[in-house]
Amino acid sequence: MSVHQREPFGDEVVAPDPRFTLDSFEPAYRQAARTNVLSQRVEQAHAELAHCNACPRDCDVDRLSGEIGVCGVGRDVLVASSYAHFGEEDCLSGTHGSGTIFLSGCNLRCSFCQNWEVSQHPVGTPHDAEQFAALMVRLQDLGCHNINLVTPEHVIPRLSRRSRGPCRWGSRSRSSTTPAATTPSRP
Ligand code: SF4
Repeated sequence: MSVHQREPFGDEVVAPDPRFTLDSFEPAYRQAARTNVLSQRVEQAHAELAHCNACPRDCDVDRLSGEIGVCGVGRDVLVASSYAHFGEEDCLSGTHGSGTIFLSGCNLRCSFCQNWEVSQHPVGTPHDAEQFAALMVRLQDLGCHNINLVTPEHVIPRLSRRSRGPCRWGSRSRSSTTPAATTPSRP
C-alpha cells in the first residue's frame, strides 16, 4: 500500500515519538516576534514588492499596484486548496497529515511540474491576512503536524504579514519553507 492509499486514522490519538520531537524548540518566527525583528522584516519585505525582487527573477514590477511578473501573481495571495496531506514524505505527513496550502503561481518554470494547473494559472481564492491566519490555525486544529506551503517563495512578502496572525493566535507549527524566506533578500 502506498502512502496515497493509507487508511485514515479516525479519532485515534497517537503519542508523538520522542525520537522526533524537540521539547525545547521555539520557532524562529516567535523569537523574531518577541524582539520586534519580525515586524521590521515584514514591512521591509512588503515594501520591496513595489519593485519586486522577491526572487532571483528580479522582475522589478510593482506588484502592490497589481502588476504581474514571471510568477503570474500580483498583489493577492491566491489559495488553490488546503487540507491534511498524507502523500508527503512520512516525516512530514506523520499520523495526522501535513497541513498543506497550495498557492497559485510560481517563480519557477519546472518542465515537469506536477502541480502545473495551479503553478501556471492564477486559480484560487484571494485570502487577506485574517483569512490566511485562520486557515493555518484550522489546519493545526485538525491535528496537522506542520504548515506546508506549496510553493511560497513568490508570495512570501505577503505571507509574512500573515505570520503575525498565527503568532498572535497560538500557532505551534513549523513551516516546511525555509526561515530565510521571511528575511528580505537585500539590505
Ligand atoms: S516574485 Fe514574481 S514578480 Fe517578483 S521577482 Fe520573482 S517572479 Fe518576478
